Amino acid sequence: MYKYKEVKDNAFVLSIDNHAEVSSALMEFCKEKGILAGNITGLGAVSEATFRFLNPSTLKYVDKTFTEQMEITNLTGNISEKDGKPYLHLHITASRQDYTCIGGHLLSAYINGACELYVEAFPGVKVGRYQDPETGLNLYEF
Ligand code: FE
Repeated sequence: MYKYKEVKDNAFVLSIDNHAEVSSALMEFCKEKGILAGNITGLGAVSEATFRFLNPSTLKYVDKTFTEQMEITNLTGNISEKDGKPYLHLHITASRQDYTCIGGHLLSAYINGACELYVEAFPGVKVGRYQDPETGLNLYEF
């Protein structure tokens, strides 16, 4: 699902396999390395991606899948802990064939080409999540 190399203490470069799904691969990696807090950045190319938009007035999620070849012009995210497991918060900007960009909160994305990520772990740091009724979000809990 991925290959990785530790580039310095608690920091990794990660290559996600072609056709793999990014958030599942990242979750697997975090579990394998025991990462419960950290930061993620990366780029790549996908053939399908599902984005999420939270409507702040209704607190309803609107999910939309785009099935087309796109470059990941930026993937940024963080790792925290929820129910003893890694919790990923990922956002993505992707460019289309006409060079315009779309983006949002990332639910899933299928690689078609490559996906190169940098993951920095914050070992020993406890960053949890709690459900905030006002925003409808799982906010950081320190
Ligand atoms: Fe988000």
